[in-house]
Order: sequence, then structure tokens, then C-alpha cells
Amino acid sequence: MQRRKFLKKSSLTTAGLLSAPILASCKTDPETGAAPVTETIKPVVICTWNFSNASAKAWEVLDQGGNALDAVEEGVKVEEADVNNRTVGVGGRPDREGRVTLDACIMDKDSNCGAVLCMENIAHPVSVARKVMEETPHVMLAGLGAELFAYQQGFEKTNLLTEQSLKKWEEWKKTSKYETIINIENHDTIGMLAIDKNGDIAGACTTSGMGYKMAGRVGDSPIIGAGLFVDNEVGGATATGVGEEVVRTVGSFLIVELMRQGKSPQEACEEGVKRIMKKNEGRKDFQIGFIAVNKQGETGGYCVHPGFTYREYSPNGHENKVVNSFYEKKQGD
Ligand code: ASP
Repeated sequence: MQRRKFLKKSSLTTAGLLSAPILASCKTDPETGAAPVTETIKPVVICTWNFSNASAKAWEVLDQGGNALDAVEEGVKVEEADVNNRTVGVGGRPDREGRVTLDACIMDKDSNCGAVLCMENIAHPVSVARKVMEETPHVMLAGLGAELFAYQQGFEKTNLLTEQSLKKWEEWKKTSKYETIINIENHDTIGMLAIDKNGDIAGACTTSGMGYKMAGRVGDSPIIGAGLFVDNEVGGATATGVGEEVVRTVGSFLIVELMRQGKSPQEACEEGVKRIMKKNEGRKDFQIGFIAVNKQGETGGYCVHPGFTYREYSPNGHENKVVNSFYEKKQGD
């Protein structure tokens, strides 16, 4: 599309909305094979599920000219602080011993990354993950090591087990049945991807993990490549759902690599889910949802079971996107 025509179209479609899309162009990268970028919608933020407050916060950062890294950190912190969200941060469901252990990771435009695993007593694991990235020679800190590092960095000790979570755990103990719940309360882990006004991409992912998991269990969410992956030349992807299955296919890395090979974010997410289902033929007892964004600002998502959505903010406005699912498609075939 010619630049003038595109700008005209943009100004029509964005009339009265937040800010105008920015056009960028470059050639295919001869070394990485990354797709040519002709039109870039930016800034953009997407997150798993309909986390409207978190995505609005991230958008605010981006719209004011903030960078993608700050946007995803500030965005997911909204959910980490929400005591009514029982799948992330304070108020998250405990493990079967009654301990709330949190997992989070963050990745920036230069492929720097940081993660904390199975960390107790700290309300904002994503911010500790960022400190791991910025202040240590390491990528991951786990358990007590992560917690002690957080105190050194000035984070306060916080009781993560709310009255409500404690009560539910006590009820759960009566049966002690561990089962994965599909579309828990219509949300669970928050994975967020953002492109800032410079066109740079960052992502973050944070969770309390599977409710009533074994003590010490870690899923996909803090694992770079599994729960989250960003390549600033190509795009980013993040996941929610049963982490064990995402880890087995290194899901988010796979999706970014598929985009590098020319697939759209939508096609790449579909292929990611199909790979998982190929290894789990006939299994219907778990949910996984992937979302992705490419360098051009196009987004996509796909999941195993109907019900997964993602939230998108862009210069075109904001909406909750209902995602097609593997089993839905199968039934319609
Ligand atoms: N992916 C998370 C985990 O496996 C849980 C979830 O998203 O529901 O820990």
C-alpha cells in the first residue's frame, strides 16, 4: 500500500481514537530471514484473557511514550496486586501444602531476560524478575534465593495467602483431588506483549501456577521460550494453561520461530496448539491458550478449548478478542 493511501486509511479508521498508527519500513533481514516490515501498527499491547485494567495500564505507559518493557511490567503488576485474582500474585491459589508460590519472567528488546520461580512472600514477582535481569549475572532465581534477593533489592515481605484462598484451600483439602480446571474463572496466568512507539517489543508473564500443585512445582510461565519469548526482529508470544504441555513443545519460542519463517501470528499460534495436540491425541482434559504479535503489530491467538480470549490495545482502539479453538474447529469440520 502506498504511504499516502495508508495514512489516509489510518486517519479514517482511528478517528476519535487514542493516537495515530506509525508507519515504518525495512527490508527482509538477510541474516535472520525475518519478514519484511512494510507497515507497523504501534504502539500495541496484548495480554491473555480479558485483563482490561492491566492492558489499560500498559497502554497508558505506551501512549505517553514509555517503552515496551516498562509497559508490560506496569501492566501485569495490576493483576499481581489484585487480591480477587486467584491465579496471579497476592490472593493466588496455594500449593497443596498451603503455600502461595509465584512464578514470573520478563524479556526485553535486546533478548535480556529474567525470571523468578516458586518464590514466596513477595507481591510483585515480575519486578523481581526484572531486577534479576538488570542487576545480576543470572537469568533465573528460584525459591528462597529469589526471595532473599528480593529483600536485598528493597521488596517488602507480604502475606500472599488471603482469607478467601485459605478458606478454599481448606475446603480442597477435604478431597485433595488435583485436577486442572479449563478456563479457571475465565482467567488465569497473565502473559503480556507490547510494542512501543519505537517499534521495540517486550513481554512479561506472571502466575501463581496451577492451584494445589505439588510443592516446588514450576510450570511454563517463568520459563523463557515456554511461557514467554520475544525476538525484537520477529515478534513475541506468550502462553496460558497447563504449563507442562507448553514446556514440552517450548511453545512460545516455537511460535516466534514459526513467525520468523513467514507465518502470521494467527497461523503460528494455530500451529503451536496443533503440535501440542499431536502429542496428546484425543486428550480433552487441559486448556492452553497462546497469543502472539509480530513486528508489524499484527496479533493472533489460538487455544485448545473454546472460552479463551485476549485483550488488545492499539491505535485502532481496544477490544476483547475471542479466540478460535482446536476442538471448536474439529467439531465444525
Ligand atoms: N501456565 C500456568 C502454569 O502452568 C498456569 C495457567 O496459566 O493456568 O503454571
